[in-house]
Amino acid sequence: MATTQYAVIGLGRFGTSIARRLHEAGQEVLGIDINEESVEDAEPYVTHGAIADSTEEKALTSLGIKNFDCVIVSIGNDLQASILTVMLLKNLGIKKIIAKAVSKRHGQVLEAIGTHWIIYPERDMGERVANQLLSPNVLDYIKLSKDYNIEEILIPSKMIGKNLKDLDIRAKYNVSIIAIIRDGEIVVPPSPNELLKNEDLLITIGKSNDLAKFSSLE
Ligand code: ATP
Repeated sequence: MATTQYAVIGLGRFGTSIARRLHEAGQEVLGIDINEESVEDAEPYVTHGAIADSTEEKALTSLGIKNFDCVIVSIGNDLQASILTVMLLKNLGIKKIIAKAVSKRHGQVLEAIGTHWIIYPERDMGERVANQLLSPNVLDYIKLSKDYNIEEILIPSKMIGKNLKDLDIRAKYNVSIIAIIRDGEIVVPPSPNELLKNEDLLITIGKSNDLAKFSSLE
C-alpha cells in the first residue's frame, strides 16, 4: 500500500486510536496536541509527535502541515478550537479534512466551513451497538446511502449445504451476495455453484429493509 501522510490533531482517545491504527498499517502519522502529556502518551503510536496549539497558523505551518494528504481534527470539547483549526486547514489548502463532531450543531458548523468528512463517534457507535442487538447475525455493515448497506451476515442455517444458483437469493430476497468469507479466506466473486458452508459469512449488498429480512432468516 502506498504511504499516505496523515496528521492527527487532538490526541484524546479518539484521535489516538485513529493514529494508532494508521501507524500500525505502516502509514506516516504526525500527532499534534496542545498538551504535552497527551503527546507523550501517544508517542508509541505515531511517527512524530508535536506539542502545538492548532488554532495558531504559525504553529501549523512550521510543522509543514501543507504537505499532509489528510488531516484529522479530533478536538471535541473546545468547539472554538475545533472550528478554528478546520478553518485554518481549509485556508492552507489541505485536500482532505476529517473532523469529529460532538453535537449536531457542531457538525453543522463543520459542514458549513467545508469539512470533507464529519464523524460523530458517540452517535455512530451507539447506532452500531443497537443494530448489533437488533440483528445479531449482522456482524458488520457499511452504510452506502440512506437506503442501501453492505452487510456481513452469518449464513442462515437453512442455506448450509446449498449452492447460490439453487438458493436464488437475489430473486427471492432482493439482496446480492458479493463475496463469502470462509475460514478467514475471501471467495470473490462466489460462483453460482458454490456450496455454502456452516459459519460462512456472506457479504451482501441491498436495501436495508431487505437485508434486515434476509439476516433474520433462521
Ligand atoms: P476523546 O473523547 O477523544 O478522548 P475528549 O472529547 O475527551 O477526547 P477533547 O476536548 O475532544 O477531549 O480533546 C481531545 C484532545 O485535543 C485533547 O488531548 C486536547 O489536549 C487536544 N486539544 C484541544 N484543543 C487543542 C488545540 N487548540 N490544539 C491542539 N490540541 C488540542
